[in-house]
Amino acid sequence: MKFSALSSGSSGNCFYIKHNDSAILVDAGISCRQVVDKLSSLGEDASKIKGIFITHEHADHVKGVDVLARQFDIPIYATKGTIDSCFLCSRNELINRIKKNETVKIAGLEVEAFSKSHDGLEPVSFKINNDKTLSIITDVGKICGNVIDAVSDSDFLVIESNHDSKMLAEGQYPYFLKNRIASELGHLSNLKSALCVLEHGRNKLKNLMLAHLSQNNNTPQLALKTFSLLKERKDLHPRIMLSLRDRATSLMKI
Ligand SMILES: [Zn+2]
Ligand SMILES: [Zn+2]
Repeated sequence: MKFSALSSGSSGNCFYIKHNDSAILVDAGISCRQVVDKLSSLGEDASKIKGIFITHEHADHVKGVDVLARQFDIPIYATKGTIDSCFLCSRNELINRIKKNETVKIAGLEVEAFSKSHDGLEPVSFKINNDKTLSIITDVGKICGNVIDAVSDSDFLVIESNHDSKMLAEGQYPYFLKNRIASELGHLSNLKSALCVLEHGRNKLKNLMLAHLSQNNNTPQLALKTFSLLKERKDLHPRIMLSLRDRATSLMKI
């Protein structure tokens, strides 16, 4: 299994997972053109994509789905709540309904959806297995049992490190928005995210990618500095990386 974060942040999220000569996407919150360009920068192409798995209805996760799915004939997988609460695709036959805790076998991978706490109608995150386990956990306000299970199962973990709590509290956002972001239906702060990995990561966790960093309420340096508290665990030494807003990460073997 190989992985690249094509884009992550409130301007658009899209993750590429490849196995042999097939691939899937988790979310397509950037345009079809951007997906195609970013894949070509990795020497990949969109015709390999066999499914687009959608976490929830927010625009930064679904913006590019319609054009991408129609252009390359790609099935879309989403929960009923997500399907009902946004426009995904004008070709209805491409939309497949999944349930939480359901596992879809596709492209040699097992993709498991699990529910999480966020202000969507029926939001999920995904755990992807073949011989190793990759979990992609963004847009989550609370460390629930499902998140803990995914963190402790992962060899490669992509986890939201959305904001620095002090920057959010002292920043320019209106009061209601600050509350929404910091709430259990919002996003994980650097500290909540780092403490979750500190407490629940196992030593098989070799790679850790910080994702969905806020442009206004965080800096890459602050996020990385917060995660340096993982040094408290002598048995846990993941390589810590950042996802980027405007550029795909390299295509990494898991
Ligand atoms: Zn988001
Ligand atoms: Zn969201």
